[in-house]
This record gives sequence, C-alpha cells and structure tokens, in this order.
Amino acid sequence: MKFEYKVTLIYLLIGGAWIIFSDKFLLTITGDQEMLTEFQTYKGWFYVATTSVLLYFLLKKHLKRLRKAESKAVKSNRLKTAFLQNISHEIRTPMNSIVGFSELLKSEELSETETKQYIKLINRSSYQLLNIVNDLLEISMIETGNIKLNEKNFHLNSFLDELISTFIPLVKKDINFSVTKGLDDESCTIRTDDHKLRQVLNNLLTNANKYTDKGNIELSYKIEDKSIKFSVKDTGIGISKELQSQVFNRFHKVHDEKERLYDGVGLGLAICKGNIDLLKGEIGVESEPDMGSTFYFTIPFQPVK
Ligand code: ADP
Repeated sequence: MKFEYKVTLIYLLIGGAWIIFSDKFLLTITGDQEMLTEFQTYKGWFYVATTSVLLYFLLKKHLKRLRKAESKAVKSNRLKTAFLQNISHEIRTPMNSIVGFSELLKSEELSETETKQYIKLINRSSYQLLNIVNDLLEISMIETGNIKLNEKNFHLNSFLDELISTFIPLVKKDINFSVTKGLDDESCTIRTDDHKLRQVLNNLLTNANKYTDKGNIELSYKIEDKSIKFSVKDTGIGISKELQSQVFNRFHKVHDEKERLYDGVGLGLAICKGNIDLLKGEIGVESEPDMGSTFYFTIPFQPVK
C-alpha cells in the first residue's frame, strides 16, 4: 500500500476509534456525564499530540528511506559518469594506437623490423580493445541475470596446469610464481563450471601480476569443510583497509593517484564477484598497502569418484 494511503488510513482508524470508544471508556471509569464534558478539550489535545508524534515518526522513517535512495541514485549517477569517462579513455588509447600504426604501415619505406613491430603493436591494442568489450558484455550479462551455469566434471590439477602454462609467460621477470595444490592427482576430479572458474582465476592472477613489481605470486587451493578455497597472494602495492570493501564494486579503481600507471576499467573484480555468486561461493581480500594482497574465494566442493 502506498505511504500516503497508509498514513491516512491509520489517522482515520485511530481518530474513529478514539471518537467512538474514549467517551464510553471515561464514562465507565468516572460514571459522571459532567466530568466527561469537562474532559472533551483534553481528549482533543491528547488525540492531536498522539497522532502528531506518530505522524512524525512515520514521516521520519519514510523520508530516511527516500533520502537514502536519493543519495544512492546520485552516487550511481556519478559512478556512471566516471565510468563513461574512464571507458572512453580506455577505448581511445588502443584505438589511437591501431589507427596510428596502421597509418604508418601504409608507408612504403618501412623496414621489415619496423613493419613487424607495428603489426605487433596493432595486434596488442586489438586484444586490449577486445578485452574491454568482453568485460562490458560479461558484466551486463551478470547484471541482467542472463548467465547460465555449465557444470561439468574435470580434473582440477590438470586444469590448473593448463591455466598456469598460459600465465607463466606473462609473469614479470622479478616475480617468482608458485602453485600449491591441495588435492592429489588421483582424487582431484570435481564438478563445477570450469569456464567461470578459469575466468576468475585468470582475472586474479592478471591483477596480481599487474599490481606487483617484484616478489612473489602464489596460487593455491585447499579443502575447507565442504568448500574449495582458492587464494592468489601477491607482494604488490596492496590496498588500504577502507578501500578493500570497494574493489568488488563495478567501475571502481582504487589507486586514484597511480591509476594512470595501470590499465583496466575496474570491472575485473566485479565480474569475479558475479561469477563466484553464481557458483554459490564467497570472495574476499586481505591486504596491506605496500605489503601485498591475498584475494581468496570459495566454491562448493563436489568431489567426483
Ligand atoms: P582493473 O581493471 O582496474 O584492474 P579490477 O576490478 O580488476 O579492475 O580491480 C579493481 C581495483 O582493485 C584495481 O583498480 C586496483 O586498484 C585494485 N586491485 C585489484 N587487484 C589488486 C591487487 N592484486 N593488488 C592491489 N590492488 C588491486
């Protein structure tokens, strides 16, 4: 029922009940009609005072809810504008590189090495663009609930071997990368959506590599109760306590001052969270600035014989 109808109805009900029953009640207590007439004014005041207090609290509660919704809408609008600026910047950078280097390729005086280098740069920028578009598609599908899980049985350790074989060539040279597996090769067949799991792990590993200059990155998993807990630990720039709760929100990039140093639109972790929610798990982070971060997530452990 709409708020205004609710308040009017409450007002009418209390008023009606007061008119009908208060006289009878007073008469029963005092047994004196004259006294009742004397009390009429006080009764009126009492009614006005009680309903005013009630109205005040109802309005206060309602306005609080409205103001909260308003500030949320303003914040979300601000985020959208920031996102549009951000995304335009992120799209323009690889686009400029594609346009610029393909223009240069038209020249006939290029050496073979230059040609190869320009093609490599165009190729890299095209992949960067493709990643942005893929992220945008993925987050909109998560938001509209348009994603179906595709669970299947697979060998977790082999899956990780394959995943890290594509990651190792990308690891920075001053970083030592290690993996710890929590199950034997004989007993690590599990059931889940391997595509989603790969996406989440890839995102976390890419971030660890992006935000760490030197030290270690450790990927591990272990069994905890009825869950598998995966962790990606790095010795990178870390995230302050206040900002840790924001990193899983979409379009959030928390290293404001340094953000120009790192590319990315701030969607990776929001996609991870969306996917882990779908897999019925939990995702979180423990981190300290300049000491490193540990991103962890759980998924239900469904062993397969
Ligand atoms: P982005 O595309 O900007 O990397 P993400 O959603 O993946 O977006 O991450 C959101 C923000 O969280 C990043 O901008 C970064 O500031 C912070 N972040 C993510 N992973 C790490 C990490 N391993 N170490 C430090 N900061 C991180």
